[in-house]
Amino acid sequence: MARIYYEKDADLRLIRKRTVAVLGYGSQGHAHALNLRDSGVDVIVAQRKGSENYRRAVKDGFKPVSVAEASERADVIMVLLPDEVQAAVYREDILPHLSPGKTLGFGHGFNIRFGLIDPPKGVNVFLMAPKAPGHLVRRTFADGKGVPMLVAVERDPSRTTLRLALSYAKAIGGTRAGVIKTTFAEETETDLFGEQVVLCGGITALIKSSFDTLVEAGYQPEVAYFECCHEMKLIVDMINEGGLQWMRYSISDTAEYGDYTRGPRIITDRTRREMKKILRDVQSGKFAKEWVREATVNKKRNFHKMRKAAEKELIERVGAKLRKMMAWLKKG
Ligand code: NDP
Ligand code: MG
Repeated sequence: MARIYYEKDADLRLIRKRTVAVLGYGSQGHAHALNLRDSGVDVIVAQRKGSENYRRAVKDGFKPVSVAEASERADVIMVLLPDEVQAAVYREDILPHLSPGKTLGFGHGFNIRFGLIDPPKGVNVFLMAPKAPGHLVRRTFADGKGVPMLVAVERDPSRTTLRLALSYAKAIGGTRAGVIKTTFAEETETDLFGEQVVLCGGITALIKSSFDTLVEAGYQPEVAYFECCHEMKLIVDMINEGGLQWMRYSISDTAEYGDYTRGPRIITDRTRREMKKILRDVQSGKFAKEWVREATVNKKRNFHKMRKAAEKELIERVGAKLRKMMAWLKKG
């Protein structure tokens, strides 16, 4: 079982003795910076001018500087930039300021795991990955609580990196909920696998294929949308609150019988073999290489084409119309 750290395992004084640079004031960046500041940590925010995030940092009372300046001034540099731009920004603006003894932190292990960033010897490297989007990291902290996080140490020349990382976790609220020890490899590989197979890729493919099946069979798209998309959240909320059996306890016996007998016909041995293949592509770095190439060499051209095509799908038009009928749904 995993090692989990709580408040008593972390000493806030370690991070309070350092200057922390938070690179990026986006989803994670703004939450880390505000929580650190509220915990009495000396924080420098790096945020480029011109975007909404810059205005937000200023409004929140920070004086944003460049990535290079923040990296030069800080002892702990937390990289909260999009994963696909980190390597280029690192080479230009972070690496020149990485003297021995400094510590580099990440919110996701992608660039370290796949060797896109290879910090010099003498630099400590840790991972602090909140298991929630930034606005929740901030809101729960402000409410006196926290969200669970993952911690890992990749390089530890100072031999104090885990203690420093846990101190950082305490300052952003992680140890209030629990901080699970992992490795960069485990965090990165499971994260990519999860989003591809279940959370993003799997679920959208399941919704869309079932919706298309009903519509092609002549059923009205509006009715198909409710069955194959809208009700997904009600079911997932129940699973989230009490597990698979709690959800099954809440549905009819008819639905539960259909679940046991038909579910395994949808996710078959063939699907499981494909899952293993996707996992192998994650582990070997094949997926990472493909995505970095698409993001850099190809300037995300295929990616944007796929996004455009997906926006035009029937299910999206039907869904937009139906969501207007449901006053309690927040506008996306
Ligand atoms: P966002 O897209 O919300 O924010 C990215 C930030 O980086 C923005 O401040 C953006 O500024 C800045 N930025 C983008 N490109 C550049 C560039 N070329 N040079 C300088 N600054 C740039 O990212 P997230 O907060 O979602 O992700 C940050 C990290 O946290 C990633 O490693 C991610 O995997 C990880 N993470 C994210 C989670 C989430 O739920 N969002 C959860 C856990 C980890 P600008 O406004 O100017 O574009
Ligand atoms: Mg994830």
